[in-house]
Amino acid sequence: MTFAIHGLPVARGIAIGRAVLMAGRVDVAHYFIDPMQVEAEIARLRQGRDAVIDELHRLQQTIGNMGPKEAPHELSALLDVHLMLLQDQELVSGVKHWITERLYNAEWALTTQLEALSRQFDEMEDEYLRERKSDLEQVAERVLRHMKGVASPVPQPALGTRRGQASRQQDLQLDGTTDVPLILIAHDLSPADMLQFKQSVFAGFVTDVGGKTSHTAIVARSMDIPAVVGARSASHLVRQDDWVIIDGDAGVMIVDPSPIILAEYGFKQRQAELERGRLARLTHTPAVTLDGERIDLLANIELPEDAAGALAAGAVGVGLFRSEFLFMGRQGKLPDEEEQYQAYKRAVEGMQGMPVTIRTIDVGADKPLDDTRRDEGHLNPALGLRAIRWSLAEPSMFLTQLRAILRAAAHGKVNLLIPMLAHASEIRQTLALVDFARAELDNRGTAYGPVALGAMIEIPAAALILPTFLKYFDFLSIGTNDLIQYTLAIDRADESVAHLYDPCHPAVLRLVADTIAACRAQGKPVSVCGEMAGDVAYTRLLLGLGLRSFSMHPAQVLAVKQEVLRADTARLKPWVVQVLAAEDPAKFLE
Ligand code: PEP
Ligand code: MG
Repeated sequence: MTFAIHGLPVARGIAIGRAVLMAGRVDVAHYFIDPMQVEAEIARLRQGRDAVIDELHRLQQTIGNMGPKEAPHELSALLDVHLMLLQDQELVSGVKHWITERLYNAEWALTTQLEALSRQFDEMEDEYLRERKSDLEQVAERVLRHMKGVASPVPQPALGTRRGQASRQQDLQLDGTTDVPLILIAHDLSPADMLQFKQSVFAGFVTDVGGKTSHTAIVARSMDIPAVVGARSASHLVRQDDWVIIDGDAGVMIVDPSPIILAEYGFKQRQAELERGRLARLTHTPAVTLDGERIDLLANIELPEDAAGALAAGAVGVGLFRSEFLFMGRQGKLPDEEEQYQAYKRAVEGMQGMPVTIRTIDVGADKPLDDTRRDEGHLNPALGLRAIRWSLAEPSMFLTQLRAILRAAAHGKVNLLIPMLAHASEIRQTLALVDFARAELDNRGTAYGPVALGAMIEIPAAALILPTFLKYFDFLSIGTNDLIQYTLAIDRADESVAHLYDPCHPAVLRLVADTIAACRAQGKPVSVCGEMAGDVAYTRLLLGLGLRSFSMHPAQVLAVKQEVLRADTARLKPWVVQVLAAEDPAKFLE
């Protein structure tokens, strides 16, 4: 039966494919294995299952030696059921199927099959049988616990190996056919999960939770594949392998579409392809407005390898390298100076002489370093030890990063960008540490290059003390994602308040306008690197406010360039005065 699930649109386009569920009560690692490792992965699963069977047999023996008072008959019957479930063919062959056909790691395969069987149990008429679902969950959890002690022969992909795995995966034959697009459906995906799946097989994403500018959504957008977040119960309503359509423009997922709906979306998909083809013709066209204003369209990247995509999209530099993605999902083992230096150098060299703005680590809130260090213990992680606050609390880690960035600056033009500053004392402390990092490199006799120093304006307090920021920094970059979150007190990752997350709120526009005006008055560069910069709905507004530098996902560059080519900044100025004075500025953008 066809039905639709509504969420928030985060990355444009249409994707049609089969659902891959990454949901489940049990939190396990999800990664693709190498086809050569299939047998070893099945053996690991078998080891886990055999260990549980032994354990249950031992328990049965112990029970057998007890009297009926200490060990009621039901207990022994329950163990029989668990043993039976463990040897159930549907469970065993199902798990093997996911490992062999889809190359899921053993834990992922087991939880996937568990989900599939749970649904079958849910649909059973007989109450007794329906209740066996919890037994199934218990035995699966036991197996997973045992498997924790048995290391996978396949290491979880580290950042450097991911791409190789992804491309092998693309050659994979699914259900005997090639080219079956896969759509990932999950309750939640951390930015580190998303990073792992970057450039992988998935043709689209849907998550139950998340706001439009949550970091998960940002990574989805950088992958340039259709995505919907905040789809509430999608991971419960969709079944493994269901056919689904994602409409990333409308923020809708259609499950089990009828042939008519499939045909309609197939048509839309082809139209979108044609539009992409048209836009591609603008790649080498300079971004200049009708009245001759030159606009810098820069790229936001997460990994050094993304530089290639930035160049291909016609970006004239990197306006935001979110360096924290180098630090994520490493189970606490952070990259040392040399590893970071090599990564920054790759990005700098990858941009072939164009400037690269490297932002120092911004972890915390919805960007935990890894899942074991989630910020759940804190009441308000977005207001807690995040970004520069974290760096200043860990000076040795921060100095390591600063040295690595300064060294990379010997290979090309690098701007150093500091996130989430609000206090003059934080600014002074940060700058003192930059000087200290330089002195350390001097003492060591290590080469480094000059950097322009910039601050992000993403806390209203920062936008209200611009003279202080302009006194210390060479340039500013407006992080509208956080600026909106902190101005309006709306958690950017919370879909339940997403309707109040408004880039056009007059207070937000006032802070953005003042920051641009203050920089221009002093002749200092200013850019916007939040999601607003890549949304064509705001291009004219930002141009009218005097912005000449926009940083966005590479996939958005051409669409924004098209808007720039059609704009006349001289005519936008009086219009923007009206917008800024309006009670509902969004009405002017319709
Ligand atoms: C922002 O806040 O707008 C920004 C660009 O930083 P991030 O999205 O990484 O918090
Ligand atoms: Mg931010």
